[in-house]
Amino acid sequence: MIKLQRPPEPQKLIDNKAAWQASLDAAILRHGSYTQIPKDERGKLISHYKDKEITEPLFGSSQGKCAYCECNVTESSYLEVEHYKPKSIYPEKAFDWENLLPSCGHCNKAKGTHDTGIAPIINPYVTNPDDAFLYKRIQIKPKEGAYFEAAERTKDVCRLNSPRLIDARAKIMPKLELSSMALEDAIKKYNATASDTEKQNIKRNIQEALSTADLTQEDSAVYAGFCRNFFKNDDIYNKAKELVSA
Ligand SMILES: [Zn+2]
Repeated sequence: MIKLQRPPEPQKLIDNKAAWQASLDAAILRHGSYTQIPKDERGKLISHYKDKEITEPLFGSSQGKCAYCECNVTESSYLEVEHYKPKSIYPEKAFDWENLLPSCGHCNKAKGTHDTGIAPIINPYVTNPDDAFLYKRIQIKPKEGAYFEAAERTKDVCRLNSPRLIDARAKIMPKLELSSMALEDAIKKYNATASDTEKQNIKRNIQEALSTADLTQEDSAVYAGFCRNFFKNDDIYNKAKELVSA
């Protein structure tokens, strides 16, 4: 999970949410509760948030990745609009821009109707996940501190250590290790030579190897949170950064 920036509320939502909400509220009154609205009718009443003018900026804000697990659309087959506070419990938040998150089908399904109003989970648009999570080997773990409990809950509710995600992180590991090894090699060569020209050449190689490592940490990169954690704790990577900035 990485920190996400919520874009401005789409005009379509601003212009229509009151009317959409009024129709939904009327149906709730008619049928007694949100869950008692017949499925077809409910689908029609709430599907407005799936409008392209709403999903485009929302999905764009996470660069097409799931806000929770950071998988991309192709891996999970589709991206869905997730309601942080479930619409079945908080129907008044069905069209609330701040309540919408891009999620993969797996996380959306796992989260289900978990009541975040009572037991909050980490919302990456609000809380910086760097303050809440760390990774131990390929497992995501809650970080000691203010967000410990919420992070632990998020891990469980969204199944952030499911076999699917453990497997995905494991598959990325060789790339990260190879990046680190390439840097280590270059640093050794840098330290071994006395020639200034040679040092400058090797420094350029280190810069290139660092760029490769940094690609895995970009906002658009899958599992960027995991890769950032890897390099943050990698002595070689940090040494290389120091070396090129000197
Ligand atoms: Zn997900």
